[in-house]
Amino acid sequence: MQLSYPKHHFINAGHIDRCQICNSDKLHLVLDLGHQALCDTLLSKETLNEPEKTYPLRMIWCQKCTCVQLDYCVSGSEVYHPDYPYRSGITKELADYQRNISHSLIQNYNLTSKDLVVDVGSNDGTLLSSFKQMGVKTLGVEPTNIAKIAQASGIETIQAFFDIKTAKKIKKEQGEASLVITTNTFAHMQTIGEFVMGAYNLLKKDGVFVNETHYLLDVIAGGQFDTIYHEHLRTYSLKAYIKLFDQYDFTITNVERGSRYGGNIRVIATKGKGRKVNPAVRKLLKVEEEFGLGKLETYEKFASRVKVARLKFIDFLINAKKTGKTVTGNSCPARCSTLLNYYGIDKELLPYIAEQPTSLKLNMFLPGKHIPIVNNQRLIDEQPKFVVILAWHYAKFIMEQLKARGLKSDFIIPLPDFKIVKNSQV
Ligand SMILES: [Zn+2]
Repeated sequence: MQLSYPKHHFINAGHIDRCQICNSDKLHLVLDLGHQALCDTLLSKETLNEPEKTYPLRMIWCQKCTCVQLDYCVSGSEVYHPDYPYRSGITKELADYQRNISHSLIQNYNLTSKDLVVDVGSNDGTLLSSFKQMGVKTLGVEPTNIAKIAQASGIETIQAFFDIKTAKKIKKEQGEASLVITTNTFAHMQTIGEFVMGAYNLLKKDGVFVNETHYLLDVIAGGQFDTIYHEHLRTYSLKAYIKLFDQYDFTITNVERGSRYGGNIRVIATKGKGRKVNPAVRKLLKVEEEFGLGKLETYEKFASRVKVARLKFIDFLINAKKTGKTVTGNSCPARCSTLLNYYGIDKELLPYIAEQPTSLKLNMFLPGKHIPIVNNQRLIDEQPKFVVILAWHYAKFIMEQLKARGLKSDFIIPLPDFKIVKNSQV
């Protein structure tokens, strides 16, 4: 069988001048976030003495398929360096969430002990472990050393990048898969064609390819420009997914929305054309159209809202500085690098970012602006006048936690619109 894919589904490092999904040249600039350093390449005391590399970071919209994307691709080997922070899924919340995914997929697709489920980007194997508990055969594919952790905890895992070659190897050794799943990887990869055709080759007839990623509509509706960073080469709408899979022997047969990563979608692509489509697909396409994901003015409005929030934030920090009020940051997700670097906030305006005592980011420095990352005990000790919640999509939970620990500061929520929350309101 010839396993080929369109040339534009292999994204080369460097400038990109056509749509990554549909190859159209009808691209529009939504926001220019400047040249930025990689958000997960934190600096140590030592690397602060070295030059720091930056790359263009622009939010671009394709008029034809509505995919939002970057017009510059940093090579995966630079982004996913050996010290790339391990984002594990060991929180109870995530484990519960993954159990729910596996249960509903097992039910919807009648998976039994005869079926093989392959998780691509399987991390420590948390998702697969809930499939395994239900008696389904599982296999993880994970390129990083985390594969070893999964392997040690009894989840069979191949340490490799997923491509056509890896897929062929799996098929030869384990047989065809009934379901291939990937969560939070499909926005990141350069090798879209290898990935889709790898899944195609591995799946049995009518097998399903489950894809979960952050969702364009939630990004735009929620003013979440800070989800734009070099790792996220693309931000998908359902329409963009359909345009992508139209170019392959797959049918998009179902879609669900969820609340992970500040709003996500789970898209089901079934192997073969003309398969039965759940009404949820048509419904969500209609929601996208009514929301205006197909119109340039929607993105212009989004950009204006972002710029207003930025000015208010900067204005607030400068005033606080002038009047001697202390403002510090709390929580350092990848996205806060985009926010603070685009805003141009340095350690004179925001002297530190506090993180949980267990964070691997402690004692490191934010890329670009080099704001130090410190143990959040310091917030309790120093009681600054204001604390900016940089993981603002979890603001409520974080503010409650900090208040319960004895923090008396008021809070700043930077997005989608700049907001001050009094400590007494939490
Ligand atoms: Zn496009």
